[in-house]
Amino acid sequence: MYAVVGCSDCEALWVVSGRPETTSCPRCGARRRFAKLKKFAETEDADAAKNVRSAMVQRRAGYDGDLDDFATMGERAMDSGMDDGEFLTASGLDADEVADAGSGPTATRRRGRSRSARPSSGPSRTSTGPPSPR
Ligand SMILES: [Zn+2]
Repeated sequence: MYAVVGCSDCEALWVVSGRPETTSCPRCGARRRFAKLKKFAETEDADAAKNVRSAMVQRRAGYDGDLDDFATMGERAMDSGMDDGEFLTASGLDADEVADAGSGPTATRRRGRSRSARPSSGPSRTSTGPPSPR
């Protein structure tokens, strides 16, 4: 998985592969927690992520050509201060699904073992009485 993330200090955009704990801004060097970064797009392959990034960079530079929808979304998300969940929903992605994919199965279900029923009280021997002589 690849994500296009943005630096909140210098507004640099870069592509992060996978889900690292932290990532450093290539421009100002600020170390960021990946989870806290604004993700403008998440893609399966590196080329798609690079395309989104370059489209956003071009737009910022004043280039008003064909823009990827994601780039437009990202700009809007930044302007209106939407959080990640809203942004993902607006992008047509299921926020819950993305969250699930990120955190993985964290179900810590413990099966409470119900105590097995105690054997019924009282001795229940099978041989009762003296052996009858034959
Ligand atoms: Zn930066």
